[in-house]
Amino acid sequence: MKLFKTVKGLNLYLNKIRQRGQKIGFVPTMGALHEGHISLVTMAKANNCIVVVSIFINPSQFNNQEDLKKYPRMLELDSKLLKKNQCDVLFAPEVEEVYPPGLNTAVEINLEGKDLVMEGEFRPGHFKGMLEVVNRLLDIVKPHLLFMGQKDFQQQALVAHMIHRMKLPVKLIVGETLREPDGLAMSSRNMRLDANFRIKAGAIFRALKYVQQHSFQKSILECEKKAMEILIQNDLRPEYFKIVDGMNLRPLKNWDMGEYIVACTACWAGEVRLIDNLVLTKRLD
Ligand code: AMP
Repeated sequence: MKLFKTVKGLNLYLNKIRQRGQKIGFVPTMGALHEGHISLVTMAKANNCIVVVSIFINPSQFNNQEDLKKYPRMLELDSKLLKKNQCDVLFAPEVEEVYPPGLNTAVEINLEGKDLVMEGEFRPGHFKGMLEVVNRLLDIVKPHLLFMGQKDFQQQALVAHMIHRMKLPVKLIVGETLREPDGLAMSSRNMRLDANFRIKAGAIFRALKYVQQHSFQKSILECEKKAMEILIQNDLRPEYFKIVDGMNLRPLKNWDMGEYIVACTACWAGEVRLIDNLVLTKRLD
């Protein structure tokens, strides 16, 4: 596996790959890698790609400076794990490489309000920063395929929106969420949970499952209310639990209003903020 810290070094290498007619698959991450990340690497490999993984903790997407400070950093371990899993290239740049002074990296497109609901409501500016870094990294890596996780449902929806709007020459492939045995979605943040909250965090998946099992039988409002109760009973502090139209991300009032319906939640487990979602079965009629 090659490691590059500069755009120049990476470009020189990837140009050769392109000249050989090989396909480039890109997996952007913030490091502290787990099996969820690795599943995206494996998917890229299965698509016959030369796999580029980036590890970059993007300051512009953190609205909370404490969260940025506490975000786990473990480049050496990550590097070993990637090597073991057939990653071809690791790109681990410093902030100045991604945002050189004088370069305007802002993404100015109409997001049709998709950035303002759910995560956008509780993390103002987060998606602007996220799209800025993804667009910048796509410009640097110029991959054929981009691999992202369903775990960050709103994130991948906004990236799909950006790719469509800006007509970016890349295809987004979304990988399913990898979970721990109790259903907790794998996340770099899980390692910050103490033993008590680690157990309680299993309630997030139980709340999502409850809603999946009662969709179309109980009202959306009832489902959301019960899901919030499950979270609160387990000492989690939910910011939201919303059943939304998976296309425009707007909250649904009744089951007939959407075709692709997703339940999404964010909650605090002690000092750790976790998000998760579940695609609810489509109505069969
Ligand atoms: P992050 O390092 O958290 O920014 O995540 C990098 C990529 O890995 C994103 O596309 C995430 O959606 C994806 N990802 C994170 N957790 C999981 C998971 N449990 N299963 C699958 N993909 C994941």
